[in-house]
Amino acid sequence: MPLVVQKFGGTSVADSQKILAAARKAVRAHQTGNQVVMVVSAMGKNTDTLISLAQEVNERPPAREMDMLLSTGEQVSVALMAMAIDSLGYKAVSLTGAQIGIKTDSSHTKARIHSISTDRIKTLLDEGNIVIAAGFQGIDDNLNITTLGRGGSDTTAVALAAVLGADQCEIYTDVDGVYTTDPRVLPEACLVRQVCYDEMLELASLGAGVLHSRSVEFGKKFNVPIHVRSSLSDVPGSIIVDDSETAALAVSGAALTKDEALISVFEVPDVPGTIYQIFAPVADKKITVDMIVQNVAENGNTTVSFTVPRNEVQDAIDAIHPSVEKMGGRIGLVDENVSKVSVVGLGMAKQTGVANRMFQTLADAAVNMEIITTSEIKISALVKREQALNALRTVHSEFALDKVESKEPTQLPARDISNQVNIAEVIERLQRDTGMESLMIDDISLDDSQSRITLSKVPNEPGIAAQLFDRIAAAGVFVDMIVQSYASSQIADITFTMPRDQFDNAITVANQVCEDFGCDKVDYKKTIAKLSVSGVGLRSHTGVAIGMFRALSDANINIETMNTSEVRVNVIVDGDSGQIGIECLREAFRHSLR
Ligand code: ADP
Ligand code: ASP
Ligand code: MG
Repeated sequence: MPLVVQKFGGTSVADSQKILAAARKAVRAHQTGNQVVMVVSAMGKNTDTLISLAQEVNERPPAREMDMLLSTGEQVSVALMAMAIDSLGYKAVSLTGAQIGIKTDSSHTKARIHSISTDRIKTLLDEGNIVIAAGFQGIDDNLNITTLGRGGSDTTAVALAAVLGADQCEIYTDVDGVYTTDPRVLPEACLVRQVCYDEMLELASLGAGVLHSRSVEFGKKFNVPIHVRSSLSDVPGSIIVDDSETAALAVSGAALTKDEALISVFEVPDVPGTIYQIFAPVADKKITVDMIVQNVAENGNTTVSFTVPRNEVQDAIDAIHPSVEKMGGRIGLVDENVSKVSVVGLGMAKQTGVANRMFQTLADAAVNMEIITTSEIKISALVKREQALNALRTVHSEFALDKVESKEPTQLPARDISNQVNIAEVIERLQRDTGMESLMIDDISLDDSQSRITLSKVPNEPGIAAQLFDRIAAAGVFVDMIVQSYASSQIADITFTMPRDQFDNAITVANQVCEDFGCDKVDYKKTIAKLSVSGVGLRSHTGVAIGMFRALSDANINIETMNTSEVRVNVIVDGDSGQIGIECLREAFRHSLR
């Protein structure tokens, strides 16, 4: 019998009428011959209310008690949902995370799922019940209640769909599907009917809150088609599958992470191991770091800056403080007034000039980019929070995302069952060994065909990156990585890489721009090595970047620059270190290779 997992978010179960409406959807699916598992979130803004309540009692409440408190929200919803289904004359049983056997690690408030036992759910389904699972929660080895992080019910739903081999996972929410950007922020955003896992993963982790990014990881890893749709109607929404409808577009979506914080660490030695020592304690606390940038060294010292979610800034500072002090550095700047604007698109990797379009349009709108990082499929710029909305609207319109015409509603493709046995085996192995959410690395590679150029002490004002990359593109140079780091409120360093056979063209342009804008100097390295690890969910797994930093530090290799995305982490090292570097990485990640 086909099996469907239906997840209802907070607004979709906000009151008794909505709970009854959701119950009717589940009953309808049941009547048409499906086994139905529902996953429900806490009602309305209940989780927020509980968080405020906790903060009234204690400004930094213990994480374990937070989980104890927050898990009650979902417990209320599952019970009411089961009662609603009973009132419609159908059999239903509600279960908490612990009752289902959703085992997690012990990182309270951001736990990762280790394993899920399916026996109880399957028996209940076979007995004709609709099973209602509490989203967002699990239990650790010591029977402590854990939660998966805000928005985590999506992850519960897709994880359950994966272990149960469900035909699809429907995410019922308060919008019609996935839009080119948050339609509540930009009403001109367009609905996209078919999005691929990689784009969605990137968008979700960069702020598109419509799906918890870890739910997309599960979808991609275990081949679960996800259907995001409105709980208020019956029209089909957007499906997340392997293929993208917008793959040909350079940019297919934009996202805003409004509450970021920038931390700069000054005067740390520019030697192997520095990056590792700064970030190891942050990774230990499972704080997701993004936009790591580093300045050109001066007198053997460098500045390292990075962003973290604003609500974790204090934890991050506490974490890095001892190692920064030990290295003789200082935490010099903390800017809590910044937001990250990003554009995402699979097509970006195949087109030149995408970055300079973004930079130019932001410069025209007088938006200064404090920091820039790019990856193969995304470009992020850190801007002042008061300019963030304007920046988002500007790039959204520049890439014509307000004019995307989506095709007629797509029928959800039947789940590809040809490799289902394979997937079941992978799930079983992961559950037994490292855990369902553990890392899965697809590839570790070395590209030693590139060169690096850095313009140092560029005036930190709108328009310079745009000018530089405009002229670089006009010279026919295909830029790979772009990193703009933060030196002070007045100056920045801009680093970029390109194929070595385009180096001569690029350096000519760089020298001209340096002169025109009165930069300090142009630094370059003709032979560099780019070491890459690709897989799923790499940025949210704080362990990947840190695993790379550790391995390279142990091999005494200095990291010159880096970039991260959910599907790939790249680091640039000296050309002579490429071969040793790749061997170290292969060794370090040998247990995570798929
Ligand atoms: P739920 O409670 O159903 O999980 P969420 O609030 O978590 O709902 O997610 C739905 C919200 O996600 C929408 O109301 C919308 O404001 C926001 N959102 C952010 N980015 C996007 C996007 N790209 N497409 C659609 N919705 C988005
Ligand atoms: N109730 C939790 C939250 O508000 C989980 C969820 O809704 O997905 O974050
Ligand atoms: Mg949500």
